[in-house]
Amino acid sequence: MSMMIRPEALTGYKTREFKMLIDGQWVAGQEGKVIDRLSPAHGVTVSRYQSATKPDAERAIAAARRAFDTGPWPRMAGAERSRILLKAADLIEGRKDELAMLDTIESGKPISQAKGEMDGAVDIWRYAAALTRDLHGESYNTLGDGTLGVVLREAIGVVSIITPWNFPFLIVSQKLPFALGAGCTAVVKPSEMTSGSTLVLGEILMEAGVPAGVVNIIVGTGPDAGAPMTTHHDVDMISFTGSTVVGKLTMSNAAQTLKKVSLELGGKNPQIVFPDADLDAFVDAAVFGAYFNAGECCNAGSRLIMHKSIAGDVVSRIAELSRNVKVGDPLNPETKVGAIISAQHLGKIENYVRGAADGGASVALGGEAADLGMGQFMTPTILTGVLPEMAVAREEVFGPVLSVLTFDSLDESISIANSIDYGLSASVWSSNMDNCLAVGRRVRAGTVWMNTFMDGASELPFGGYRQSGLGRELGRHAVEDYTETKTLNMHVGPRTAWWVPR
Ligand code: NDP
Repeated sequence: MSMMIRPEALTGYKTREFKMLIDGQWVAGQEGKVIDRLSPAHGVTVSRYQSATKPDAERAIAAARRAFDTGPWPRMAGAERSRILLKAADLIEGRKDELAMLDTIESGKPISQAKGEMDGAVDIWRYAAALTRDLHGESYNTLGDGTLGVVLREAIGVVSIITPWNFPFLIVSQKLPFALGAGCTAVVKPSEMTSGSTLVLGEILMEAGVPAGVVNIIVGTGPDAGAPMTTHHDVDMISFTGSTVVGKLTMSNAAQTLKKVSLELGGKNPQIVFPDADLDAFVDAAVFGAYFNAGECCNAGSRLIMHKSIAGDVVSRIAELSRNVKVGDPLNPETKVGAIISAQHLGKIENYVRGAADGGASVALGGEAADLGMGQFMTPTILTGVLPEMAVAREEVFGPVLSVLTFDSLDESISIANSIDYGLSASVWSSNMDNCLAVGRRVRAGTVWMNTFMDGASELPFGGYRQSGLGRELGRHAVEDYTETKTLNMHVGPRTAWWVPR
């Protein structure tokens, strides 16, 4: 169900002008270039950024390096850093409407969803604060009377954090508080299309008491501002979320100086459905999984793998429910599917659909852009008769497009699920625990949901197998991920053994 955009929807909205945060100061880019961001739903300039190039990235890295090598942050007690993170969480909560609005008008995501993401982010900052107090190493008092072994966890150093446009505030919140909790300093580069909420986070962190230089935020394109953050000698670790292509490039850049790399990349997530599943629950989850965030989601449940005996009936029910999904102005609290991030990206989505239809798939629903009078939107789309070898079954479409494949046996469902390069998440739907556990154990994915979809919690690790990434975010080891391990091997008591005989 599409709703036209009211041209006056953003009337009176004043374009926000942002500077970059380097060494505790709000500064302009050295080359004086600016980037204008238009709301993808309304076509109005909503944000203007200073655009960073290599010299700005280098200044930011130098500030982070100084703050790490000589500043107070890594030397503070964990309890003190934790207190500051908790204050930041409170401030985020206090500004959540403003943050949600920025993410909505820059990315096109529905406002009700953006507010939910802010609640999730606040919880993550609080969770990171709790872990910060518990960061500890190990001791070995079992090495004999003459030896004591202590294993320290030390902050790894300067971290480059590079984030994409689909969940601007949530994704930076999956990285930065844990890096800060460990005692690291950071240079953050959000997507140049959705940098507003991350820059507001910079204001919040300064107000919370994070010292100058600990968090630096630059805005700019990947090649100009992001690439130096992946190659610079003074950066110790990179935490990246985005496409698998740029993830690989990042890893290869990092190899020159052997930086630690954490990558959260794409997904083409299978939902395996058996005939004995609660199909009412599944149909709702299928619609949610495919169209949430307009499908611009690494976790999108974009690949249905359904038992042949139920596929026809269940697809009809999914199509029926899909027709009730409200597509329209992201500022309308009832909207479920907002705008597509850019016209170029919409073209990419349409190409995937066209390619599938040309290859023999059927368009059971949608299949084209929605004309809502302005902005760019895509109608919820269902493709049936998709074969495992088609691009639309193997690649990330990143749009509201559901591909339906079928299976005869449990083994076949798992083999289809594992037949692609991605392995971020999966779900299985069945009332038989044997089916659920067989899929849960054999599907190669970082998260497997059973009879549910895309539920998350700060306590649960998130990340991918194979080309969906490296490492895990969230979970109880999330602060440790930003540390180095150091061994202190101590001799105790008088020396009794000599290398040179005496
Ligand atoms: P990218 O991987 O290009 O962008 C992610 C981040 O990396 C952005 O901040 C981007 O900057 C930055 N970047 C781009 N090039 C470089 C570089 N050479 N060095 C360092 N940083 C760089 O994703 P796109 O935005 O182009 O999206 C393309 C596709 O990627 C999508 O269609 C989707 O399939 C997938 N994707 C997956 C995401 C996920 O959550 N796993 C998130 C986003 C995209 P900037 O954009 O400002 O130039």
